[in-house]
Order: sequence, then structure tokens, then C-alpha cells
Amino acid sequence: MTAPEPSTVRREIQVCNPADGSIVGHVEDQSADVVAATVQQLRRHQPDWESIGPKGRKHWVLQLQDWIFDNAAHIADVVQHETAKPRFDASLEPAMVADLIGYYARNTEKFLADEHPSPHSPLGKVKKLTTVYRPHQVVGVITPWNFPFAMPGIDVVPALLAGAAVILKPSEVTPLAARELLRGWTEIGAPPVFAVSTGRGDTGAAVADNVDYVQFTGSTRTGRTIATACAQRLIPYSLELGGKDPAIVLDDADLDRAAYGIAFGGLLNAGQLCVSVERVYVEKAVYDDFVARLTRHVAELRQGQDGRAIKHDIGALANARQLDIVQRHVDQAIAAGARVTIGGKPTGVGTFFEPTILVDVDHSMSCVTEETFGPTLPVMKVNDEAEAIRLANDSPYGLSATVWTADRGRGERIARQLQVGAVNINDMAANLFNFALPMGGWKKSGIGTRWGGADGLRKYCRAQAITTPRLPILTKEPIWFPFSAPKIEIMIAVMRAVSARGTRRIGRTPSRKAKRRMVTATRLAP
Ligand code: NAD
Repeated sequence: MTAPEPSTVRREIQVCNPADGSIVGHVEDQSADVVAATVQQLRRHQPDWESIGPKGRKHWVLQLQDWIFDNAAHIADVVQHETAKPRFDASLEPAMVADLIGYYARNTEKFLADEHPSPHSPLGKVKKLTTVYRPHQVVGVITPWNFPFAMPGIDVVPALLAGAAVILKPSEVTPLAARELLRGWTEIGAPPVFAVSTGRGDTGAAVADNVDYVQFTGSTRTGRTIATACAQRLIPYSLELGGKDPAIVLDDADLDRAAYGIAFGGLLNAGQLCVSVERVYVEKAVYDDFVARLTRHVAELRQGQDGRAIKHDIGALANARQLDIVQRHVDQAIAAGARVTIGGKPTGVGTFFEPTILVDVDHSMSCVTEETFGPTLPVMKVNDEAEAIRLANDSPYGLSATVWTADRGRGERIARQLQVGAVNINDMAANLFNFALPMGGWKKSGIGTRWGGADGLRKYCRAQAITTPRLPILTKEPIWFPFSAPKIEIMIAVMRAVSARGTRRIGRTPSRKAKRRMVTATRLAP
């Protein structure tokens, strides 16, 4: 008997609940050949999807929104099974996707409408100028495990609305909620332009090898691999990567709000949020007071596994690997002299790690410099605003930041000095609930953005330029063959007349006096 080809062997991945290790499902570990065949299928159906136009696509996506509302409780169940996150967190996931669908469905026609830009020169007025937004054929969306329904939903839906077909590769740690999104698409009877390929990293690599655009969310390490693969194939991509988001607490801040907000920002989803607060800089005048309030507030939080009832604020970490990272960062900090004001160890059940505040920390410690993605809040005392800004910017990452101050002008001024893709003043993650704003990381936190109004759909499109004559057409345009000296002189004279400044418009070099006048005017210009 001959052994089957490796690519055709059916493999499976077990999905576990990290709170107790119980097996909650199985998914196929798809080979590269299966991915390639799926993309081929999607390619066949995409032209029809594109041709039904924004209005036709809006119809289907709004049906999906109805389905999500009708199945929200079940989706939250599935999310909880594979993440052990609190019911509150899990319930936010379908709600957020439905909210995003509402915004983009209402605006799709406007965002994808043809544009007719004004020509840059009066000579261009002889043409009608049109910019058309036409989708990439197949978009690959690759997602991590921290929001198993929301992460796929927020990128798949805009790509579908843009007119692309989409193949989704969810994390192997949490693939079940992503399959629910596909179940919804299938149950509403929508065209077969959306598929889910489950598997590990090699399945994701096969997606990047076959699609026309990659939308990736995950670690900076994997993002770099995907960027290299896309560069080899000369296809565009957008990367939403890791972070080490700073919070700056100024001496005029409402300290209770700052403590509540930073506890929420650092501990939501057990700190497994890309824009989680991962380090806190507090002006020295309010440092002790702030640490005391933060510690008191964190002590009130309830940790454990929820069913459908909302009983807890903090859940488990996604897997044992994540638990190891958190443990290492805390242990290394303590060994180097840091102090724990609360928490500091695993609870001993599943992958739960106590919400932890670390003080006496500095930039030599992994808990301050590396992404933890866990329930830790390292807090540092700073002399002033300038030191807080300098330390906040002292990171290879640049995803987002928060600033806590009573002076909104001061907050905005600081925001403009931070090297990050988003700054929330007196709040955390507020930008994530405003789809009109772009969400993207600077430095090693990413390339490109998601959302941002029209850009959130146009990123999945190729812009096509069309020119159409406005005037009766001649047999020949003046620039066409044959070339001649008078023809080029006339053409250059006309182009000069419309683009040059001062007497150069008519081919004259200005006098020295006129030149001096122009230099002075340029210097004085605001
Ligand atoms: P990861 O990079 O390990 O995996 C992400 C996805 O990529 C998974 O589906 C994985 O199977 C796939 N993958 C792995 N290797 C691949 C390869 N060579 N080619 C193609 N796909 C491959 O990340 P993770 O551990 O799942 O998620 C945690 C990370 O995600 C954290 O760094 C976090 O900051 C980041 N994250 C960022 C955002 C954001 O919007 N910036 C949001 C959520 C999470």
C-alpha cells in the first residue's frame, strides 16, 4: 500500500478551554493544497460579487448583521468556550462587529463612488477625469486569538463590502468563533465569496502565497514573515502588530478616573488586547496617591470563569505559552528589584494569572520593554511631562497611548509628541469604537491602517484612472507624431504659462530686484 501524499492527509487541531483544559472542538488543519483550491473557487465567484455593486453587497452584509444579532448569545458562548474570557468581554465581540457592519453598510455607496477630481492644470479641462475603486480579487485575512469573533469580523466585512472575495485564516488557538461567522454567511444564503481555512502557521503562509492582498493581525515576528512573502509576490498588505502601550498620568489628572481607566485598559481580556496599557508613567507629585488608588481598585476585581451570567471581570490567559511569558516578566522584574503591590502569581487554576501591579520598575526590565499581553501593570515615577514623553517614546512599538490630565489642551499637545498611531485622552481604546478614525500602529506595531472612514474600504481596492474626452475629438492630438521643433516650443510655452511663477510664465528670467522680492515674499509666507 502506498502512503498518501502528505498534502492530502487529513489533519486535525484540538481546541481547548484554557480555564480547565477541556476539549471544546476540533477543526481541520488545512494543507497548502486545500488553501490553493479554496482561493481558486473564490476567484471564480468574485466577478459576480463585484458586479452586483455596493448596493447589492450592502444587502447581504446587512443580512449578516441581522444574523449576528439573532445569534449573539450563541456566538458569545463559543467565544467563551475557546478563550475562557468573562461573559461581558465575549458579548462585546458580536456587538462590535454588528456596529461596524452598520457604519460601513450605510456608507459603502458613498465611500466607493467614482470620483471626478479637478485637473491640476487648465489644460486638463479638456478631459473628464474619473477615479474608480475596484477591489482586489481575493483578500486573505489572518487573525490572532485574542478576539476570536471580533478580529475576523472587523476585517472580513469591509473587504467583502469593497467587492473582494475573502479567505479567513483564524488562529489555531481559537478557530471556532470564526467558523460561526462563516455559518452565518452560509445560513443567510449569501454568494460563496467567503471561506474559512483553519490551520496553523503553514496554513496562514499558504493564504499569503495565493491571495492578492493580505490583511494580517498578530505578532511583529509573524508580520515580518508575511511582509517578506508579500514582497516576493509583489502584492499589497496591511499589518496590525504588537504593542507596548504607555499611559501618562499628569499631576493635574483626576486620579480616580485615571486609576479606573488604566485598570480597565491594562486588564481587559486579562491584558490580551493589542492596545492594552502595558506601562504607566506617573508624575512624581501624584505617584504615591495614584499607586494606592490603582492597587485599591485592582483589589476589587473578580477573577474566574463565567458561564452566561456576568460574575467576573478578569478571565484566563489564552494558553500555557502566554502564562509562561507573564510569569517570566514578573519573575525577572522581582529579581531585579521590582515590588508587587498586588497579584504577582498564577492562581493555580488553568491559565489564570492574578491581576498584578509592579512598582520600582525601569527600562532595563522585560516587563517594561517587551510585549507582555497579560494582566500586568508596571508603574514608574517620572519627574515631569518631558520625561514621561521621552520614556513613552523609548520603545520599538508605537500602537497607541493614553494621557490622563484635567487640561485637554495639554493632553492634545502631548499626544502630538508621542510616536504612536492613536492617543486617547482621559480614556482608553476610545479610538477602537470610532470607525471614522484610522487604526494602525507606527514603528514595529504595523504598516497600514484599518477603518478610517472611506480608507477602510478603499484599502481593499485598486484605484483606476479613466480619462474621457470632453471636446469633439481631432484626428490627431498635437503631441502625437511627427515631432517638430515649433511643436515642442509651443507645448513647453503653454505648460510653462500654466505652471511657472512671475515672469517665467512668459519665458523671461526675472530681474535681480524681482528675484529678491520673491525670496522675501517666500520667507514671509506663513
Ligand atoms: P501570531 O503572530 O503568532 O499568529 C497570528 C496568526 O498568524 C495566527 O492565525 C497564526 O496561525 C498565523 N501565522 C503564524 N505564522 C504564520 C506564517 N508564517 N504565515 C502566515 N500566518 C502565520 O500572533 P498571536 O499569538 O496569535 O496573537 C498575539 C499577537 O497579536 C500579539 O503580538 C498582539 O499584540 C497582536 N495583536 C495585534 C492587534 C492589532 O490590531 N495591532 C490586535 C490583536 C492582536
